[in-house]
Amino acid sequence: MPADKPNEKQNVKKVTPRSQDFAGWYNDVILRAELADYSPVRGSMVFRPDGFGIWELLRDELDRRIKKTGARNAYFPLLIPESFLKKEAKHVEGFAPEVAVVTHGGGKLLEEPLIVRPTSETIINHMFAQWIHSHRDLPMMVNQWCNVVRWEMRTRLFLRTLEFLWQEGHTAHATREEAERETLTMLEVYRQFVEDFLAIPLIVGRKSAAERFPGADETYTIEGLMADGRALQCGTSHFLGQNFAKAFEIRFLDESNQLQYTWQTSWGVSTRLLGAIIMVHGDDQGLRLPPAIAPTQVVIVPISRKPEEAEKVLAAARDIGDELERGDVRVKIDTREGLTPGFKFNDWEMRGVPIRIEIGPRDVAAGEVVLARRDRLGPDAKQKVFLAEVPSRVTALLAEIQQSLFDQALANRSANTREFDNYAALITQMEGEGGGGMANVYWCGSPKCETKVREDTKATCRAIPLNQNCAAGKCIVCGEPANERAFFAKAY
Ligand SMILES: [Zn+2]
Repeated sequence: MPADKPNEKQNVKKVTPRSQDFAGWYNDVILRAELADYSPVRGSMVFRPDGFGIWELLRDELDRRIKKTGARNAYFPLLIPESFLKKEAKHVEGFAPEVAVVTHGGGKLLEEPLIVRPTSETIINHMFAQWIHSHRDLPMMVNQWCNVVRWEMRTRLFLRTLEFLWQEGHTAHATREEAERETLTMLEVYRQFVEDFLAIPLIVGRKSAAERFPGADETYTIEGLMADGRALQCGTSHFLGQNFAKAFEIRFLDESNQLQYTWQTSWGVSTRLLGAIIMVHGDDQGLRLPPAIAPTQVVIVPISRKPEEAEKVLAAARDIGDELERGDVRVKIDTREGLTPGFKFNDWEMRGVPIRIEIGPRDVAAGEVVLARRDRLGPDAKQKVFLAEVPSRVTALLAEIQQSLFDQALANRSANTREFDNYAALITQMEGEGGGGMANVYWCGSPKCETKVREDTKATCRAIPLNQNCAAGKCIVCGEPANERAFFAKAY
C-alpha cells in the first residue's frame, strides 16, 4: 500500500493485534496483504492476485498428487436439474437449505428449475450410470477443479462464502474394500499435502454421525487448530457406500456376470485452506507464508540514498535476483520509488514473504547482503551473507523456514490440546478466553452425549482418531464405558 506522498515517516498501517481481536486481525491481514476483497454481492468475495497466487501453487501441487493416485481431471456443468438433488434422501436434506436455484433463463420461466452446484455428486453419478456397465469400466476415478455455491447466512472471507473454489474427487469401485481403501488413500494424500506443503499439523480421524457428509456412510477428516484455539476442517474424504449407486442406478456386470451396484467415494479440499494458512501462521506483523506456497519467496530491497549509488546497488540486486531465479526461487525486486526502506520492510512482512534481502552501497562494496527471515522476530531474524553464498543460503533457509513454521504451529497446537476426564473442567476450559483449544476426551459414541457437549460448550466432535488402542475408559458426559477417545473443539 504505497503512501500518496512519500516522506521519511511512512508507516505501514498496523493490523489489529491478534491477541486483542482475532477476527479483526484476520480481516485486516487479508485486506492489507491484498489477498482478497469483498464483492458487491453480500457474502461472496474477490480473490486478488496475491491470494489467487497462493491457491494456484497449492492447486498445482495437489493436482499432481491426486493424478499420481490414478484419478484424472474432468469438468461437469455448473447447473444441475433440481430433481437430481432429490434422488438421495439425506443428500437433499443436507443441501436443500443452502442451494441457489435458477428459475428463469433466456427471459422465460424454466420447465424444471436448475440448481447451482453445491457439490457435484448428483450430476457426476448421473453420468457414471451412463458410463459404467462392466467390471472392466472400474474403478472410475475423476476429479474436478471448480467453483461451488452454498447460500451461507453468516459468511467470512475464505472460510465461509457463497461461492468458493475447490476440487472434488469422485470414484466408483467394484468392491466395498476397494472403495474404503480409496477413501483412506485420499485422506492420507491430504494429510501429507497439508502438513508438508502448508506446514499445518493435523489431527486425522473419522467424523461422528452428526458431522458426516449428507449421503455418506463414513466421513474422514483432517482438522487443524488455529492460533485462536478454534478448529478448522481442512479437508474431507467420504465413503459413500452404495447410497448414490442405488439412487442413480449405477450397476455393472461383475466377473461372474452378476449385476452389482458400485461402491463409491468422494473427497475434497477448498479455498478454506487459505484461511487456515493465515490463522495458523500469521502474527501481529501480518501474514507469514510457508515458502512452498509463497508466490514470492524472496524479495530483494535495494537501498541507496544518493542517485550515484542507486545504479550499482540495483545492478547487484538484479544479479542476485537472476541467480536465484535460475535456481527456481520465486523472487521479486522492490524497485518502487519514493518509499523508505522501513516502509518496504514492513510492507513485505505484512505480505508474508519468507525471506527479505537488504542490499545497500556498503554491502555492495563489502560483497555481502543482509538476509531477514519472516519466521523469526528481532535481531535473531537477520544475518549477513557473502554474495557468493546467497543462492545456497537462500535454498537452505527456505527449507528451514518451512520446517520452523510447522514446528511453531505444532508447539501451539500441543500447548492448546488438553485431555479431560472431568466434564465440569471441560466446560470451564471452553468458556474461558480464546477458542478453548482441542479437548481430547473419552466419548461413548452416543449422539445424546455429543449434543449435550455442543449445547453446554459450543464444542463439536472434530475427529475420532483411527486405529486407537487406548485402554477402555468412561464417557466424559454420561460416565458409561467408552472404547475410544475423540477430539472436541469449537470450530469455524
Ligand atoms: Zn456418553
